[in-house]
Amino acid sequence: MSKNINWDDLSFAITPTDVMYRSVCGSDGNWDAGEYLPYGNISISPAAGVLNYGQGLFEGLKALRTKDNKIVLFRPIENGKRLEEGAKRICMPPFPVDRFVEVAKEIVKRNADYVPPYGKGSLYLRPCLWGTGAILGVAPAPEYTFMVYVSPVGPYFKTGFKPIKLVVTREFQRAAGRGTGNVKYIGNYAGTMYPAKKVKADGYNECIYLDAKNEKYIEEVGAANFFCIKGNKLMTPALGSILPGITRKSVLQIAKDKLGMEVVECPVSVDDALAADEAFCSGTAAVISSIGNIVVDGKEKVYCGGEVGPITRKLYDMLTKLQLCEESDPYGWVVEVK
Ligand SMILES: *Cc1c(COP(=O)(O)O)cnc(C)c1O
Repeated sequence: MSKNINWDDLSFAITPTDVMYRSVCGSDGNWDAGEYLPYGNISISPAAGVLNYGQGLFEGLKALRTKDNKIVLFRPIENGKRLEEGAKRICMPPFPVDRFVEVAKEIVKRNADYVPPYGKGSLYLRPCLWGTGAILGVAPAPEYTFMVYVSPVGPYFKTGFKPIKLVVTREFQRAAGRGTGNVKYIGNYAGTMYPAKKVKADGYNECIYLDAKNEKYIEEVGAANFFCIKGNKLMTPALGSILPGITRKSVLQIAKDKLGMEVVECPVSVDDALAADEAFCSGTAAVISSIGNIVVDGKEKVYCGGEVGPITRKLYDMLTKLQLCEESDPYGWVVEVK
């Protein structure tokens, strides 16, 4: 590792790397051969569909260095499939899933010097699909760009696995029932910045969004999926207007297979959450974040005395170890970059 990076100073911020990837799809609907380019600014029409009408999707996944110095990705095919699904909804040509996985591996290989040492974080991959053709009326753009850039990022929990504090927002909603909440659509995100800023000013880490129709069921925690545990039962909001997290899917699988839990995807009411023994949320960046307390309508629920719950810790340990080839992976989720 030759790069002049202080691995202990990394946070979740962009650090320029050597290589990025770009492929373009013209109005004939065919993706070109694609190219690996030096990382840097790109040139785009001011009339690009992505800039004017938000025709864009993103993905996020990580490459990790294992103890024995291998570099691995976690379920990249799932990110490829999710981008493909999202492309349909936002009216963009899908980027082929097999090529997506190939590019994910190759971009990591070409930036391997930026994959942090074992335990110091990860190389975060950001695949994007944008309508880059110029278009004036509200309609699909005549040209699309698939891009992948990467950045080393620090470990999410630098000072240990600490529970977070959340508040249920009744002031804001994230997604309408049959809107675009279930795709990693760029337009879903700017609208969550103001609510997050507001609750952070009040001392919370994030807010919990309720479903827009009934304002009764938990949807998500910012950009992470919600879970709660009651006895041997693991509950999480059913798919619909929530983002189908790959970490969510993985947690459900290992809770069932490795811990023998009863896993239930169903509407999870605020009351269900308040009656639970443990709660946590999941996403690529942190994998699992333990929830220490939730405030709802001025009342506070504290889980496990504000400490990390035992099952939450077990799931975190199992999944993070599986991702590093330190726990059995009967699923073939871990993909080595060679
Ligand atoms: C990306 C994302 C998640 C988590 O998905 P992972 O695939 O687990 O990273 C959850 N909610 C939202 C809104 C997201 O954008």
